[in-house]
Amino acid sequence: MIEYRNLRIALLGAGSVGAQVADQLLTHGDELAARVGAGLELVGVAVRDVDAPRTADIPRELLTANAEELILGADIVVELMGGLEPARTLILQALNSGADVITANKALLATHGPELFEAAEQVGAQLYYEAAVGGAIPIIRPLRDSLAGDRVTRILGIVNGTTNFILDRMDKHGETMEQALATATELGYAEADPTADVGGYDAAQKAGILASLAFHTLVPASAVHREGITEVTLDDVRAARKAGYVVKLLAICEKIVDPATLKEGVSARVYPALVPEEHPLAAVHGANNAVFVEAEAAGPLMFYGAGAGGIQTASAVLGDVVSAARRHVVGGPGVAESTHANLPVLPISAVTTRYQITLQVADQPGVLATIATLFSEHGVSVETVEQSVVSGQRGEAADAPAATLVIGTHEASEADLAATVAALTTSTVVHSVTGVLRVEGL
Ligand code: NAP
Repeated sequence: MIEYRNLRIALLGAGSVGAQVADQLLTHGDELAARVGAGLELVGVAVRDVDAPRTADIPRELLTANAEELILGADIVVELMGGLEPARTLILQALNSGADVITANKALLATHGPELFEAAEQVGAQLYYEAAVGGAIPIIRPLRDSLAGDRVTRILGIVNGTTNFILDRMDKHGETMEQALATATELGYAEADPTADVGGYDAAQKAGILASLAFHTLVPASAVHREGITEVTLDDVRAARKAGYVVKLLAICEKIVDPATLKEGVSARVYPALVPEEHPLAAVHGANNAVFVEAEAAGPLMFYGAGAGGIQTASAVLGDVVSAARRHVVGGPGVAESTHANLPVLPISAVTTRYQITLQVADQPGVLATIATLFSEHGVSVETVEQSVVSGQRGEAADAPAATLVIGTHEASEADLAATVAALTTSTVVHSVTGVLRVEGL
């Protein structure tokens, strides 16, 4: 029997995700209420244009263009408008009025997260954001709650469905980057302006959120090293397969020792990387997302599923609605975001990893020895060398014999690798350095 008063829910936004959240609350509200022990009343839905056609059947009287008024007196405010403003101001108003807030807005959290969490803590309210990373995939709560007794050491995430779709098309269908992007746009996986996705910005925002949670340290998106996928060529993808790897855009959050201070710090970085074919992340196809977490006691864990989509993302949002509603019923203060470890966030130069470098070289005796010496002079140890002859293609003279070398290294620092690549570029036996990709997940 439900004895608690109805909880008032204000929804800001009725687009791809918001419309699905409204629909679920209107059609399954009673079931959710039974799980909470209180009625859940959708008191209104704020949109820009109340007369615009809607995919969900939202009663006209619930729609309003006045979001500020709607949040007054709400117990739970669900922000699904996106963008920085007015989302930030409305969330602050909602928190300051004592409401719990749910958002899927990674851009807002990555930019104004500390201000929002601080505001929540001041009034004992809670800010939930399960849908901000990985869409439907439960990853925020596992990191914050389920793994709270363990120590996370590393996270490797495929957290951007658009780029995974593009790289997968190149790998499976032999499409070039341009062709794969055109396919992604045609099928609705890429926005008209794909910069946030292909430039790695979206993944960097999510990396900042994951690293902050996993390492109890504030990691703003601006501290995340970011490289997008625009430089990845079909040749890179093919060479990777030949060497037993798949190219994936990874968000990497890792606890590492800073070589300069020998103290522990956090590295958060986004770049296209080679993942061994047998690694679980290599099997993440299409626009799916996955987050691979390594923790000291738990060992490796993988969270996999739909990283976007209206109804899928609504699942994560509604999970937060139920959590927030339960907290209202049970009482107790909001749990502050934990940044107790406060580790330094380290630059990319502090990272060591393996690399795969593709070179066009002169096909003549002694070239391999010259190149091997160049690597060792810069402190980078070569693990594998694969050579294929492409006679007459890239030689200095039109018919000079040339060869492609794909060199895999042992672990090396970013600084040593950069010095090696610079030396290769000026070497007389090297025609060009056509690809440098890091290897992750070993
Ligand atoms: P969307 O389809 O663009 O919908 C935005 C909604 O917000 C629309 O209903 C719009 O009203 C309303 N809105 C925008 N600005 C407003 C304003 N100033 N005042 C009142 N209403 C306003 O967005 P979405 O794809 O649902 O995404 C919502 C959030 O979820 C974003 O933060 C996004 O990053 C996040 N997210 C989305 C997905 C996904 O698959 N779509 C996945 C994970 C996370 P009108 O309808 O009148 O224009």
